[in-house]
Amino acid sequence: MATDYYGVLGLAQGATDSDIKKAYRRLARDLHPDVNPDPAAKDRFQEVSRAYEALTDPEKRRIVDLGGDPFDAAGGAGAGFGGAGFGGLGDIMDAFFGGAATRGPRSRTRSGRDALIPVELELDETVFGVTKEITVDTAVLCDTCAGAGTAPGTHAATCATCSGRGEVQSVQRGFLGQVVASRPCPTCSGTGQVIPEPCPKCAGDGRVRARRTISVKVPAGVEDGMRIRLTGQGEVGPGGGPAGDLYVEVHERPHEVFTRDGEDLHCRVTLPMTSAALGTTLNLKTLDGEEELDIRPGTQSGSVLTLRAHGAPRLRATGRGNLLVHVEVQTPTRLDGEQEKLLRELAALRGEDRADSHREAQGGLFSRVRDAFNGR
Ligand SMILES: [Zn+2]
Ligand SMILES: [Zn+2]
Repeated sequence: MATDYYGVLGLAQGATDSDIKKAYRRLARDLHPDVNPDPAAKDRFQEVSRAYEALTDPEKRRIVDLGGDPFDAAGGAGAGFGGAGFGGLGDIMDAFFGGAATRGPRSRTRSGRDALIPVELELDETVFGVTKEITVDTAVLCDTCAGAGTAPGTHAATCATCSGRGEVQSVQRGFLGQVVASRPCPTCSGTGQVIPEPCPKCAGDGRVRARRTISVKVPAGVEDGMRIRLTGQGEVGPGGGPAGDLYVEVHERPHEVFTRDGEDLHCRVTLPMTSAALGTTLNLKTLDGEEELDIRPGTQSGSVLTLRAHGAPRLRATGRGNLLVHVEVQTPTRLDGEQEKLLRELAALRGEDRADSHREAQGGLFSRVRDAFNGR
């Protein structure tokens, strides 16, 4: 009596190819020796695989549908598959899913890569913005073949190895029946086309290396390490494919006066002790030009004066950061006789000439340190 191959897969006669594949895939997942160590499952898997082979081979299925057994016809049970052994479960799943993913030739043109180029900028350029001409070495479209890669007057030809399909198939005959594995054609790299006479200028690549000058608009307020993206200014792809993007990375040169912290700038001014005590007006060179900076009488060393909106512009907002001026008061070192006399008189007037005045000052210092430790 003929085996009910449809029944083995849980199907009724007349099931579609898709139903058969689905049923086999589901059963293989449960029964394959890779996942199921039960000897009974192994026998059942063999049975199921036989049914699958019987129903996916058109000739065998015709015999099944006529009420016969294709394996009897081929010379007894087990014919056609005994010797091959089990393929791995992964191979079976690849046979279902792997082939479909690479089907059809792939395009000979591919997208170009992105490129990164550093640009050195001065502080005033990053703060106020600048337009820079930069030179890049990159891949551009070959103008002899316009990206086609073929010598003038010639054309690409269909690949003889794969007949233009872009993939080659190897048929593994085994107890699973025909398992067809597809891989990209080695002759044409999966494109289905070959170039009999490559373009002499680009050797068939469709692009050549060239030096280009590009104008880059650097927005005001960029910071060191930021990248400006220029869409489509990167490398042209193989076969004249669309160009990638060009990223221009900002490198800010250190400034001799100002240091930058985001949108704020910092600088340091040194004041004579007398100016700090009496107050003065400084002419300070800022990035916006000379500004008058008012030093109030009694300004301490380490105090910070703020010049509002003299920093860098905020990149994604309005307004500007500040310029913070750090004051350092200089104690005079080489005093002549007259100066020393005057300072001693001042000290006497302020009661700072006695030994205990120092202790008081030190006490003040210690109390500040203690307060800092106590978090006050
Ligand atoms: Zn060319
Ligand atoms: Zn080929």
